[in-house]
Amino acid sequence: MKQDYTTNESKTQNVTSLSKSDKTVKVVTQNNIVVRGSEIGQISPLDNIGKLGTFYETIIRRFSLQSHSRELLPHFGVSGCLRLRIDKNNPVEVYKAIKFNNAAYGNLQTCKSVWVCPVCASKITERRRIELSQGVKNWQGRILLLTLTLQHKSNESLETIVTALTKGYSKTFVKGENYTKIMRDFGIVGNIRTLEITYGDNGFHPHLHILLFSERNQIDYKTLHKRLYEKWEHSLQSIGRYTNQKAFDLQFSNEAIASYVTKWGEIDSNNNWDISHEMAKSPVKVARNGGYTPFALLESSMLGNEIHGKLFQEYAKYMKRKQQLRYSEGLKELLGLLEKSDEEICNEKIEQAYLFMVLSREQWKQILGNDIRGELLQQVANGDIETVVTFLMRFGIDWDIEQFGYYNEGENLT
Ligand SMILES: [Zn+2]
Repeated sequence: MKQDYTTNESKTQNVTSLSKSDKTVKVVTQNNIVVRGSEIGQISPLDNIGKLGTFYETIIRRFSLQSHSRELLPHFGVSGCLRLRIDKNNPVEVYKAIKFNNAAYGNLQTCKSVWVCPVCASKITERRRIELSQGVKNWQGRILLLTLTLQHKSNESLETIVTALTKGYSKTFVKGENYTKIMRDFGIVGNIRTLEITYGDNGFHPHLHILLFSERNQIDYKTLHKRLYEKWEHSLQSIGRYTNQKAFDLQFSNEAIASYVTKWGEIDSNNNWDISHEMAKSPVKVARNGGYTPFALLESSMLGNEIHGKLFQEYAKYMKRKQQLRYSEGLKELLGLLEKSDEEICNEKIEQAYLFMVLSREQWKQILGNDIRGELLQQVANGDIETVVTFLMRFGIDWDIEQFGYYNEGENLT
């Protein structure tokens, strides 16, 4: 039989001190276990995991990779991401989603790095992809996909190549009368530019993908191709660089655009990280163009490839302040999208969740020491308090139900 919490004032006091975000608090007794409940707020389904087994493998791997990124980059934000608490006076919180098998941490700092943190990157790029595909769906005219890169030598540093590429694009290609005229002639009113890096036989291979939004429904594709190619060729020549047909691509079919948008920023795609592929089985993860993506380099480094570790460090150092995706001014409005920063995206809560448990500083230290942050989320998402406590005990972590109680689903929601 369950009892209402109002019969137990002192326990209610205890619970309210655990989380500042509580709105209501109830304590009920169920099978002789003290169960405490409250409506806590929301988490994002993307904070976490998902419903299928493979997703759990993915999140566990992301946490392991994040730990490895931390080893390679001790002075970067990723080293404290989902490790350090925001409020040192409060415990680490673990939330469980109400409708789906999801779980997430609360009161922990996040680094918001799309370049070096596999956990933050997956969350940010996932949201950006949803936004991107909504924008594409909303657009009434034509969309074209332009891919730009340049010829480079295998011994050139990433910094040298990216500098040349961005200079060729931002300072030259999109400047001047000629570019404005091309845009006007083809009704192109905005663009979305993304920067991607892969590593292959020719060293680092940075490239730009640019979605061009035209108000026209009919476009003389051949002429547009010719004029953009010439413009890119001249832009590179003016900075002492060269292109060729391989370093320039213009796609215009709906299928090509849809495929690009669906795969954009995916760090677990089949061509990149194969989510059905067990970690540690194969260090070879290839990008769409046959090279390694940065997170594939990280994974390979984790599996023992020191050269790939050094390359990841070089990449991290240089990409730190670069922007991954940029909408041209006014385009978001034209596409009916809201302006959102990466920080806002990271903090967005879209799924109802309740506080499942809290972890003391000491317990959290043990969880970090055993590198089981992902595994714990999996246990919380799929199990009840008893299976979670049993799981923690396997690592010698004591978690006293009587001491902390937990927030019970259903009892507590308004
Ligand atoms: Zn992070």
